Parts: sequence; C-alpha cells; structure tokens
Amino acid sequence: MQVAIVSDIHGNRHALEAVLADIAQSDADRLWCLGDVVGYGADPNDCCTIVREHAAVCLAGNHDLAVTGALPLDEFSRGAALAARWTQEVLAPEHRDWLASLDPADTEEGVGLFHASPRDPVWEYVLSALLAELCFDAVPHQLSLIGHSHVALAFVREEGEPATGRARRGGEAEELGEARWLVNPGSVGQPRDGDARAAWLLLDLGAGTVEWRRTEYDVAGAAAAIRSAHLPDSLAERLQYGQ
Ligand code: ZN
Repeated sequence: MQVAIVSDIHGNRHALEAVLADIAQSDADRLWCLGDVVGYGADPNDCCTIVREHAAVCLAGNHDLAVTGALPLDEFSRGAALAARWTQEVLAPEHRDWLASLDPADTEEGVGLFHASPRDPVWEYVLSALLAELCFDAVPHQLSLIGHSHVALAFVREEGEPATGRARRGGEAEELGEARWLVNPGSVGQPRDGDARAAWLLLDLGAGTVEWRRTEYDVAGAAAAIRSAHLPDSLAERLQYGQ
C-alpha cells in the first residue's frame, strides 16, 4: 500500500491542486493529511472541500483549531491571527464543523500521525535531534509522521544509537529498515525550507520506504489571491521564497 502524505496546506488551493495532480500520477492509493488545512491562504473553503473529498484521514492543526475557536488567537503571531480571523469570517459553517470534528493525533496502519509532535501534537516544533529523542521515547511507533514546522525532514534512531536528523530535498528517499523514524513531508501551502515548490511525501508501507517530493505550482496565483483577499502582504511575499 502506498500513501501520499500532505500537511500544512494553509488555504493554498493552487498548491494543493498541483500536488493532487502529481499524486494522481504516482502509485499512491490513499491520502493522509497531517492538518493545518486553513490559515494564511486565500482559499480555505476550496481546500476543505478538496481534502474532505480525497483524504482518508485528516488531523487538526493549530491553525485549524484557531479558526474553530478551540485555541485562543493571542497564542498566534499577528499575521497568523489576522488570517485566522479572516478565515473565520469566510469559512462555510459545514467546513468549520468538519474542522471541529478532527483530532491532532491518530494512528493508521501502525504509523503514528501527529500534526506537530508525538509529545505535543498541537504546538511543539520538532527541529532538533534532542527533541526527536524525547519524541521517540514518548510513543511506541516505529514510524511517526509530523507536520507543523513546514520543513521537509527526517530524524532517525538506530537501536542503541542517538537520534540524528536533517532537512530533506525533493527526490530524496529512505529505507526505513528496523530504525525508529520521525518524518515530516514539509508544507504544501507555505514551505519554509527555502524551496518554494509544494512539498509532500510518498510512503510505501509494503516496501518500507519514504520519498520526499516537490511539486511546481502557480505561486503568483496563490500570492495574488492572498493580496485580493486583503490578507497581510507578507503572507503573499514569503511564498515565492519558500520562507
Ligand atoms: Zn502549519
């Protein structure tokens, strides 16, 4: 079974549609989404519609929980809070109810799914080997998939060894073997690892492999949509730099 993993779509319909077209060309037969379907981008309703139609599993991210009112907006940066408030105004009630029904953590086929981290599935950014160690100790899964940092990466811990990890470029692949893994597909809708292309991951459960993928999309179109929605200009600008 091959699974396409997406995360941190953030209302970027242009990126999501391009990624789904790419996934359709792959051998993936299902889609898992690690959350943050909305927030930052100009097309939250379209993104909810598309994810609800295609994803077998969807987690709640911190931005989704901000939009439903489950998290207070004062825990967010100014730009994120503005975008969350705007999303609250434009989001269809049925999509808001759907987001409110989601959880930030799940297990599928023995794989741990966490929006942010196994220790704190809503807020913790796993960007260091030290934090990865604590996460490995917190859960039993051999493989955990995480989003939230918008950086495509992997941490690995071989039996008896310390955890190591680094960012991953599009096209890189790994055999999981017997080691423990924390894998982040990167962000579909707002990459922050210096590559503006939309990020996703192909997981082959039978072969025990993961492959990081990047997909070109209409960045200018997504930025123009953000500007015409009168969302902060910085949210449009950062898309072209992947930051
Ligand atoms: Zn996010």
